[in-house]
Amino acid sequence: MAPRSERPSAASEPRERSGDRGVPASERAGGSGGAKPPGEMKTYHDIVGDGGSRILEQVAEQRARITDGLAGVRHLVAVGSGKGGVGKSTLTLHLASALRARGLRIAILDADFNGPSQARMAGVEGALFVPGSRKVALPRTSDGIAVFSMGSLIPESEALEFESAAHGESHTWRATREFALLGEILASSEWGTLDLLMFDLPPGAERTVQFADFLGPRASFLLVTIPSEVSRGVVARSVAALSKGSHRILGYVENMSGYYCRDCGAIRPLFVSPDASGLEIPCLGTVPFDPELARHCDRGIPLAELTGTPVGQALEQIAQQLLDSLEPGKEPSP
Ligand code: ADP
Repeated sequence: MAPRSERPSAASEPRERSGDRGVPASERAGGSGGAKPPGEMKTYHDIVGDGGSRILEQVAEQRARITDGLAGVRHLVAVGSGKGGVGKSTLTLHLASALRARGLRIAILDADFNGPSQARMAGVEGALFVPGSRKVALPRTSDGIAVFSMGSLIPESEALEFESAAHGESHTWRATREFALLGEILASSEWGTLDLLMFDLPPGAERTVQFADFLGPRASFLLVTIPSEVSRGVVARSVAALSKGSHRILGYVENMSGYYCRDCGAIRPLFVSPDASGLEIPCLGTVPFDPELARHCDRGIPLAELTGTPVGQALEQIAQQLLDSLEPGKEPSP
């Protein structure tokens, strides 16, 4: 926050700014007849209405554009964990590919703006965003999955910066700017008709809940853990935090569940931890660690190359489980 002495006084503020509707600043911010003596800090409660910012109308307008843009999307699935580095991005992309191979229309929104992985993994780094018929058309993977990732817009040598009004105060605005950006991406991208829009979430149990709040009740959650006590503990926090709301948690996937040895074809233990995860949500499947999968991710090579391997088979099964939990009672696709 700027030091008080740097704040413009009410007297020095212009009377007319866009949206101020000619109301003197002292009356807007100080409330009806409640002008504060110079130098006294105003609080949130001193602000009348939206303080003349039109913020409520702007939020409502953006919400309407988001609702309109997502009208053709059947399911919103957020892939989260709470923990980082457990394979959220990997599973988002490769489950999307497994579903795409069944003919489903899929898009991915990489919501990890500061650590975007989808651009590289999906092979859309440096892809161009071009105008679509009404909104911005998204780049697509070779198998036809539309992908929005900050990694397509910002090279890996640079970090995303959220501008702030005051130098060195970017943390004050971070969450607000992050969600305003997410809203703008949702509202301005051409999602079209989709069976599934998958969100690759950033780490953080509490942030997972913020995404749940932002995405609204249509979004359901798939959580990812690895078989370590540390990871399971963090995922348990995410489950507890999400359970306070009304969002559906479809279940969890245990990634890096054993090491697939390509030399001998066996799956060997990787983490020494109890078999039971202790997570009180359904397990949709387990995926072994396969160095080839890591290589595929690094180079943006599609899943088709892994068909028939333990990882490929595991992803196929989990994709089916995911569909079953999204659409219970529907005949499994061939
Ligand atoms: P997160 O999105 O949770 O931060 P990532 O999906 O980026 O995690 O995965 C972290 C790293 O581990 C990536 O380099 C990815 O390729 C690799 N990885 C994830 N799951 C597997 C797996 N089952 N086998 C091999 N490598 C994996």
